[in-house]
Amino acid sequence: MSNTRNTEEKEALFDKIYECPICASEIKAKTVKTGKAKLESTDDDLRPVYQNIDALKYDVVFCKSCGYGSLKKFFEEPVTAVQQKNIQERVVQNFKGTLVEPEVYSYEDSIMRHKFALLSSVVKLAPVSQQAYTALKIAWLYRGQGQQLDREVAGYKEQLESIKGMELEFIEKACQGFMTSYTTEEFPICGMDEATFCYLVSNLCFKTKRYDDAKRWISMVVSSREASSRVKEKARDLKDEIMKVIGEE
Ligand SMILES: [Zn+2]
Repeated sequence: MSNTRNTEEKEALFDKIYECPICASEIKAKTVKTGKAKLESTDDDLRPVYQNIDALKYDVVFCKSCGYGSLKKFFEEPVTAVQQKNIQERVVQNFKGTLVEPEVYSYEDSIMRHKFALLSSVVKLAPVSQQAYTALKIAWLYRGQGQQLDREVAGYKEQLESIKGMELEFIEKACQGFMTSYTTEEFPICGMDEATFCYLVSNLCFKTKRYDDAKRWISMVVSSREASSRVKEKARDLKDEIMKVIGEE
């Protein structure tokens, strides 16, 4: 990242204060100021792409005193006594907090924080959709990291391949989790209505080469009465792509 870009990113951030539900420490979570991240486009799996700063890097709250983490979206949800105990035993006791807080997060910084958030959500037995959503966010961060890799750097191709491999690994986790949550949770799931959710699952199945599943999930959107025309349009495009691969119709 260039220095100008770094300064610009630093100026777009402020410290939002949270209290850790596990160890009661004060957490200063870097947060993008309102209006500083301008949405440019959305990827086919709904990842928002911003013009000047990748706001996705700052969607996480992480306690560097104890290792507890959560996506901001889920942070305010109460932590039960049992969850506290599990986090104590399986996160806090293994955590060696020696982190220095950087002024802006590199992708590595942010991915590491998100992985702690994923670990906490797994240990807490948070709804499987939350675990899946956290994994999806990690996949999106890997994609961002791959896109900003310097093409001139030695070993560019190998680095990009390895980052893409990591992205796919987390897409896989997200895909499996979301499929499970469909039968065990009520809508809205992670803020998504059923049509958006089924579209996303189909897309993740497509990316992980589960073409029959992808077709089944997308058909639910195409034939849905509740889906908005925007989602239906995306669904028809995806269905075309799926059909091209499986060579039917
Ligand atoms: Zn803590």
